[in-house]
Amino acid sequence: MDAARCLVACPTAAFVGAYDLDPQRCISYWTIESRSIIPRALRPRFGNRIFGCDICQEVCPYNRRLPERTPWLAGLHAHPARVAPPLLEGFEPARPYWLDQAAFSAHFARSPIKRAKRAGMLRNVCVALGNWADAAIVPALTQALHDPEPVVRVHAAWAAGRVLAKWTHAPAAAWLSAALDREPDARATSSTLRSPAFPENTRDE
Ligand code: SF4
Repeated sequence: MDAARCLVACPTAAFVGAYDLDPQRCISYWTIESRSIIPRALRPRFGNRIFGCDICQEVCPYNRRLPERTPWLAGLHAHPARVAPPLLEGFEPARPYWLDQAAFSAHFARSPIKRAKRAGMLRNVCVALGNWADAAIVPALTQALHDPEPVVRVHAAWAAGRVLAKWTHAPAAAWLSAALDREPDARATSSTLRSPAFPENTRDE
């Protein structure tokens, strides 16, 4: 039974069978390797994971013995400031590392985060913000909806739709409507119009 723990624990059901992983369903693939639009059906399952996912490794009994097999790793520890960075911090004017390429490069110097690139990370952050769907994320989404990268705007629009589905937020509804009016990429407008905030538009991607 232990050998099936990863299959059960995976939040996206990425294991289609024993020893058979579908990377198109894996959070690590999407948040680190892919530069594309994340499938809408998967986004709610990402939770607040913005760079990878190790759930299948964490539940694996084999890995419990890792420290005794690899004593040379004992001195390595995660950087405390990067274990769980606040999602909204990178939108602050003093350190806009989600919004500005130079700030991103400086903030993540010598960090593997750079592999996903700024647009990929901001895309991932938008998904996490949409899963949070608190009214506090509205200012950040306003900025993301103005990002020059279409892939960012698509996910920011989706996140905005999640907020509006949860909260009555007249200012947010107004700016989202204005943003959609000027949006040149149809994927961003359709991403929002098919959000739970607009239940009359429920076609799948
Ligand atoms: S890394 Fe996460 S999403 Fe990918 S297979 Fe493992 S548990 Fe599933």
